[in-house]
This record gives sequence, C-alpha cells and structure tokens, in this order.
Amino acid sequence: ETLIEFRDVWKIYQMGEVQVDALKNVCIEIEHGEFTAIIGPSGSGKSTMMNLVGCLDVPSKGDIFLKSRNIADMTESDLSTLRGKTIGFVFQQYNLIPGMTALENVLLPLEIQEVEDDIALEKATEALELVGLSDKLSNRPSQLSGGQQQRVSIARSLACDPELILADEPTGALDSKTGRDVMGILYRLWKEKGKTIVMVTHDMDLAQYAARHIVLKDGMVVRDEINDNSSKNE
Ligand code: ADP
Ligand code: ADP
Repeated sequence: ETLIEFRDVWKIYQMGEVQVDALKNVCIEIEHGEFTAIIGPSGSGKSTMMNLVGCLDVPSKGDIFLKSRNIADMTESDLSTLRGKTIGFVFQQYNLIPGMTALENVLLPLEIQEVEDDIALEKATEALELVGLSDKLSNRPSQLSGGQQQRVSIARSLACDPELILADEPTGALDSKTGRDVMGILYRLWKEKGKTIVMVTHDMDLAQYAARHIVLKDGMVVRDEINDNSSKNE
C-alpha cells in the first residue's frame, strides 16, 4: 500500500492581487521503506510540500491520499488521529519542552496517544536508546548539545512507532559534523529499522544519505530519481 500519494497537486497562495503558485501539478508516490530527500533552492516549494506530506495543510487543487484515504474526505479529527499514529515530525529547531527531561519529552506523544504508563516508559526508553542517548534520560534540553537535542527530537518522533518520519531541515541548526552524525542516525533508522523517512534539505552533501531525490524548482518536480550514492554511507 502506498503511504502517501499526490495526484496533480497544486498549492496556490493568494495575497491580495498577487497569486503565488507554490506547487504546480505535483504527482508523487511515497512507499513504505523509502528514504527520500526533497531538495531545492529557497522558495522552490519544499516547506509547502512538507506541510502537505504531513497533512498539516490541504491542496488548492488535486488530491492527497494518506494510506489510500483521500484526506479531503476526512474530518479534521479523523485526520488528526490518523496523522498522530502515522507520522512523526522532526523540526529544524527541535521544539523540545525546556522544563522537561529528555525522557519526559519523548513520553509526551505517548501520553497524548493515551498509551499505558509502563508501556510508554518502555517505548520512550527504547527510542532514546536507538538514538544513543540512554545516558541522558534525565537531562533537560539546556543540558544537552544541539546534536543531542535533535536526537531527543528524533526519539520523540519515533515514540509512537510512526510509519513515516518527516524531517524539515533536521540539521539546519547544527554544525556540519554534528549534522552528519544526525544524518547517520536517520540513515540507520532507515537501513536497519526499516523506517520510512522524508526530509527536506537544501544541502546536497547531506542529501546524499537519502536513497531517493525529489528536486523542486519553482514549485515543480524537476527530478525524481534514485540516489546511488546513498549506499556509500555504509
Ligand atoms: P521553500 O521551503 O523551498 O523555501 P516555500 O514552500 O516556503 O519554499 O515557498 C514556496 C513559495 O510560496 C514562495 O514563493 C513563498 O514566498 C510562497 N509562500 C509560502 N508560504 C506562503 C504563505 N503562507 N503565503 C503566501 N505565500 C507563501
Ligand atoms: P557536541 O560536541 O556533541 O556538540 P557539546 O560540546 O555541546 O557536544 O557537549 C559535550 C558534552 O557536554 C555532552 O555530552 C553534553 O551532554 C554535555 N553538556 C553540554 N552542555 C551541557 C550543560 N549545559 N550542562 C550539562 N552538560 C552539558
């Protein structure tokens, strides 16, 4: 089953007299187990596309299917439930709660999904272990480096066992070495744990970790291809 399908998707922003076609006639399918980078210069439509892939926004024209269901036919509350179970989000700025420890931050989405306490604790601990932070469970964000904070946010995105991890410029706030470490974690989650990952980046070096490149220019998909360099990361 295709995880996400865009069928002739347009996103048009109307600002007074001015109309911006942020996405034009985009057709893509994302399957389980893919590691995709969405690449393109500033203003090419990457964020717009991420918001649509994450079902945080709706298209102006065309259809988006999440697990074969047209999101246009779903109520906001059904969509929100399906999104919570299906997609984990990673942001450039981590979005961790400063007053909470690493463990508490990762427990949060499990509590929202009303997972039983002991199972939640098990899942959160496991997720933090996967990103190599077993020894930082009780550190608050301010007691962690930027790279470690991003690893906590990746652990949080993993907590509810999502089918898709959506990462928007996950290394944008990190220096290049730490950025590569974080990309290495995403790469292993894909390669070893079979996670489906879609990330946005404007950094071609970091895009090399991904096995598929979707390149946007002026709101159009100008390339959609396998990246053979991905396997060089082993
Ligand atoms: P990228 O993430 O690649 O930088 P965006 O998706 O943010 O590109 O933007 C694509 C185009 O849509 C740009 O021309 C941008 O100015 C425009 N745009 C994005 N969001 C909005 C908005 N909320 N209102 C109006 N125009 C927008
Ligand atoms: P990196 O080299 O990964 O960016 P840092 O140099 O920022 O990491 O931090 C090195 C170590 O110091 C990390 O293990 C981190 O947990 C710890 N550390 C960083 N900042 C603090 C802090 N404010 N309080 C306690 N420990 C910290």
